Amino acid sequence: MKIVFLGAPGSGKGTQIQRLLDKFSYFKLVHISTGNILRQHIKDGTELGQLAQSYLEQGQLVPDEVIIDLVRGRLSQPDVEAGFILDGFPRTLAQAEALVKITDLDMVFNLKVTNREVIHRLSGRRTCRECGEIYHVDVIGDWMKCVKCQGELFVRRDDNLKTIANRLRGYRKDTSPLVDFYKSQGILCNVSGKSREEIAEKVQKRFMGIVVKEVKEDCKRIFSDPEAVRQLDDAMAEGYRIGEKLRKATQPTPESMRRVVDL
Ligand code: AMP
Repeated sequence: MKIVFLGAPGSGKGTQIQRLLDKFSYFKLVHISTGNILRQHIKDGTELGQLAQSYLEQGQLVPDEVIIDLVRGRLSQPDVEAGFILDGFPRTLAQAEALVKITDLDMVFNLKVTNREVIHRLSGRRTCRECGEIYHVDVIGDWMKCVKCQGELFVRRDDNLKTIANRLRGYRKDTSPLVDFYKSQGILCNVSGKSREEIAEKVQKRFMGIVVKEVKEDCKRIFSDPEAVRQLDDAMAEGYRIGEKLRKATQPTPESMRRVVDL
């Protein structure tokens, strides 16, 4: 499963992605946030961190070639084989075109929020220094400890009004053309809603759509190939974990098998 989340800074990408990962942990998708990777480099004082620091502080985009190399390297690591969710990449057309050469994608979620909402969210955002959990002052007041890990909550240096305005301008100029780019490929899914819960529900529904499509493809391939059926049986006999639907499908009655294949 290969997924991208588009959305202005503060549109709630991180929160929605975390919900998806928690709910569908079975799929072992890897969350790749280019912003988090860059912040870690800055913290560690690496060469990349030193290069990226001033861009991040001013709310400017790191040059395309730097970020494309970073993502290419990350996507070549073995842990992403089961699938990934890209958060904060691509942000320009050049990055989106480079990504086409690196991998195909199943779906691109575009979280739609107004500028007003973004400014409200980012200017009141508090982030956990240890685990990255996100809070809002409207909810936590002046409380400064993370509920999950007790880490210190801090205000990101780029969450100030001047930088927020820069990031929003940059987003509208550089990143919004990606919406048309992915629309023309037929993999764009626009999501908006009044509450996080409503958005989460829509995202999860669409995600299930991809799961069903994949299972259906697998079933079709397997049941039209006796050798694949034999291998699947062998794998199960050896105790491999196989998706619930596939497992059911390997002990089918003619009726249940037809149902799985026709999902
Ligand atoms: P984020 O945490 O996604 O809001 O990213 C924070 C900052 O990291 C951005 O304002 C940029 O300076 C930099 N950054 C993250 N992802 C990218 C990207 N795909 N291209 C260029 N710069 C990026």
